[in-house]
Amino acid sequence: MTVEQIVSEGLCMECGNCAGLCPHGAVEMRWSLARGWLPWVSQERCKDCGACLAVCPAGGLDFGKTAWWRAANEGAPAPDFLGPWRSLWFGWATDEEIRYQGASGGVATAILLGALADRAIDAAVVVRPSQSHALAMEPFVARSAEQIAACRGSKYNMVALNVALREVLARPGRYALVGLPCHIQGLRLAQRRDRRLAERVVLALGIFCGWSAEPRATALAARRLGLEPGDLADVRYRGPGWPGGLRLQTKVGLVRERPYPDYYDDDRAMRAFTPPRCRLCPDGLAELADISVGDAWLERFQGSVGVSDLIVRTPAGEALNKRLASEYLTLVPAGPCEMLRSQRETHELKRKVWRGRMWLRDRAGRTVPVYPGLPDRAQLSDKLVGLRDAADEVVQRKVAALRFGL
Ligand SMILES: Cc1cc2nc3c(=O)[nH]c(=O)nc-3n(C[C@H](O)[C@H](O)[C@H](O)COP(=O)(O)OP(=O)(O)OC[C@H]3O[C@@H](n4cnc5c(N)ncnc54)[C@H](O)[C@@H]3O)c2cc1C
Repeated sequence: MTVEQIVSEGLCMECGNCAGLCPHGAVEMRWSLARGWLPWVSQERCKDCGACLAVCPAGGLDFGKTAWWRAANEGAPAPDFLGPWRSLWFGWATDEEIRYQGASGGVATAILLGALADRAIDAAVVVRPSQSHALAMEPFVARSAEQIAACRGSKYNMVALNVALREVLARPGRYALVGLPCHIQGLRLAQRRDRRLAERVVLALGIFCGWSAEPRATALAARRLGLEPGDLADVRYRGPGWPGGLRLQTKVGLVRERPYPDYYDDDRAMRAFTPPRCRLCPDGLAELADISVGDAWLERFQGSVGVSDLIVRTPAGEALNKRLASEYLTLVPAGPCEMLRSQRETHELKRKVWRGRMWLRDRAGRTVPVYPGLPDRAQLSDKLVGLRDAADEVVQRKVAALRFGL
């Protein structure tokens, strides 16, 4: 397949690896409100070297074949869905402000700040809103504690994060990369291909992900709150506090807010604007990361300022976690059953919906990504879930088009 075919088949994860790794600068990521960031290849510059395709995670991945997975898995349990782990924790940033302002417990930011202070890293690849459009998110290589803190919070929007690997290649140093499972998959493929990336990206911090959203999902939220997407100046998806909410601010200072579950988790219309490839991805908990973090959705933490799940997967992750514990992180030991319980909904998405949608796509004669070793055989109940999900997507998209012009 070519990059163009990957895009037209709806298989592109928008991770940005192809643009980040093309040695000829022939691939660039172009943004649209409808789809987010998709690669565009300059036929003049392209030398057909295949570098872009060699690092593309769109066709699927054998997790067990990556060196990181094997190293993490050696002597460690690796149940389905949870992935390999060395230790499991519930935790939050010891600094109260970082915890309060973070998406869940502020753990991702606390780990980065701790690693920077500890000189384990010189910089971190994170996400910030683009200067050109409030609904476009872009990667940013943060080199100071202030810059890292400014990029905290979840962005339920597409980000071609791995374009920043260009800067990692251009400027030696030790980097962390914070990314969704698709970004971490791309990173691991890129590290397999380029030794400089293997040496320089010393920390892969994975963010759990049930699904991401096309930029027009935020545009829909804006229209439903009576705002024009083009008038937006500032968008915040999570925090302060837990679980926080969506806050939209226009250029003239008008502010509209909606609590988190209403516009994201419980909103079928928002879910309809999930990029097609998200529904074909089984990796909810960033299995290839050194440390993965998510929300600790458990009754016992309800009403708190914010608590994160932490899955420490690799020896490098374990060593860093030990060094940062107490000064930067407050940690409570967790068990695998409770950790899984905290991700019930993501599990449903990444197993039942995933199997159902893979089955539907296969039936339609379209290419499906391949994940050897994962339980992809759809049972009747998975097929029904897949059919309901697909029907809901079509209906909700139609309604959004008719009622909100999106
Ligand atoms: C699209 C998406 C889907 C998610 N789905 C789930 C889920 O199903 N279950 C669950 O428990 N948690 C999910 N999360 C994770 C959750 O929202 C928090 O990000 C996570 O708990 C970390 O919180 P924190 O307070 O430790 O992070 P913070 O300290 O607030 O830092 C967040 C870090 O994540 C980075 N980041 C934010 N958005 C993105 C993005 N789109 N792509 C790459 N990096 C980003 C930021 O640069 C920042 O460094 C999802 C997050 C996103 C962005």
